[in-house]
Amino acid sequence: MMTKGTMSKKTLKTLIEKGSIVTPGGVIEQGDVLIEGERIVAVGTDLRKTIEKHDEVTFISAEDKIVLPGGVDAHTHLDMPLEDFSSADDFKTGTIAAALGGTTSIVDYAEIGPSSMQEGFSTWMEKAHGRAVIDYGFHMTVKRCDPQILREMSQMVNQGVTSFKVFTAYPGRMMLSDENILRVMKRAAELNALVVVHAEDGELIEELINRKKRAKSLDPIDHALTRPSAGECRAVRRIVEMAEIAGARVVIAHISALQAADVVREAKKKGVKVYGETCPQYLWLEQNRLKAPGIQGAAFICSPPLRDITHLNALWEGLANGWIDILSTDHCPFNIKGQKDLGVLSNGGFDFTKVPGGLPGVQTRFLLAYAGGVLAERFDLVRLAEITATIPAKVFGLAPRKGALTPGADADIIILNPGETTSFDAVDLSSNLDYSPYEGMRMEGLVETVFSRGECIVSDARFIGEAGRGKFIPRHIDKGAEDNRVNN
Ligand code: MN
Ligand code: MN
Repeated sequence: MMTKGTMSKKTLKTLIEKGSIVTPGGVIEQGDVLIEGERIVAVGTDLRKTIEKHDEVTFISAEDKIVLPGGVDAHTHLDMPLEDFSSADDFKTGTIAAALGGTTSIVDYAEIGPSSMQEGFSTWMEKAHGRAVIDYGFHMTVKRCDPQILREMSQMVNQGVTSFKVFTAYPGRMMLSDENILRVMKRAAELNALVVVHAEDGELIEELINRKKRAKSLDPIDHALTRPSAGECRAVRRIVEMAEIAGARVVIAHISALQAADVVREAKKKGVKVYGETCPQYLWLEQNRLKAPGIQGAAFICSPPLRDITHLNALWEGLANGWIDILSTDHCPFNIKGQKDLGVLSNGGFDFTKVPGGLPGVQTRFLLAYAGGVLAERFDLVRLAEITATIPAKVFGLAPRKGALTPGADADIIILNPGETTSFDAVDLSSNLDYSPYEGMRMEGLVETVFSRGECIVSDARFIGEAGRGKFIPRHIDKGAEDNRVNN
């Protein structure tokens, strides 16, 4: 009962009305999402009638629009140091680009510091602090393995860093031996943590690179030829076998080869706790891009490399049928000028071994998945939300706060206008980058509005948020997230 003199407390609410609301259970047509503060409080129809007189409400019409959970991009490399420079986007430019593309959480790859994991974690926290505009978490890259590192893994888990990345590639830099990978997996299994693997066969690749060097054949396409799909498959098979031995939960990062996807599918059927991740570049860009001469080809150098159309089709099928669970970006951009052009030799020749590998993608992921998946009728809107938000949130321990339009979750929401289009030319993208791998492409759909924890940060497809508003989200351990189902 209200006594005289008591002010009625105003509640700030936002009601998104009459859109196609994509929930884990299906699409609600003419549906509404009610936001109160930072959270979603209701999802349904006719929610206007639940509004009380004293509520202060912002009404947003989603008529003829699609309302989806804000994207979770579980694979980015912002401000990542590489020899003399860093990846082209820092936590400000990279997360603004992500927000404009419909992503509201990222999980970025931190690296072990010179003396400890803790030091690396602090370094990455500082990189993000004051810059990130959306929420973020970190994986820890384990590029060396010793008793201290294995001990520190539990310290990381306690601080919300619950996934560890290992490499079967890049000998001398990142690669761990199989016995060390097994040690990391065993420790992760004890902690219920995840192991993410860059799975390509490093030793085999090294030999193929040496042969190319001797033959003086180092054009951009040669980079791809030194990293064959069979080598990726071989590494994935080893990892899956080790995961089975260790009883570890494993994510195969950036699957690019159909044989690798097949291995993941068969392992899932056997009950191995393995999840598959792929990226839009492996779905949209064919290997012949690398045949362009010099820097034009070098713009497309990444590892694993782009592959032929058979692989692209198989990966789409994998996403539709559940062999592949997660669509991330591996956003690791390097400019043509001063970075990708390091491969240009003074004699006019080319040397791919001098080119930093990596492609941008943080802004383009969602619409590429929407076009190639939903519009091409490979899968529906619910699956689109699953691979871009719901499953990565579950697997990486951000659920139930992130990844789905459900009451109680953070109000991380995107409104897609399917009647508009979006240019993917470099000048129209927000990334701090001098080229776009999707130059000349105009995509169906426009990410018009984005909410992050209830705050509208993208309006009319323009970023209106503030640098530094993003928060570190400690991730939990979710051993029950057995969402690696296979439909056939
Ligand atoms: Mn990688
Ligand atoms: Mn990566």
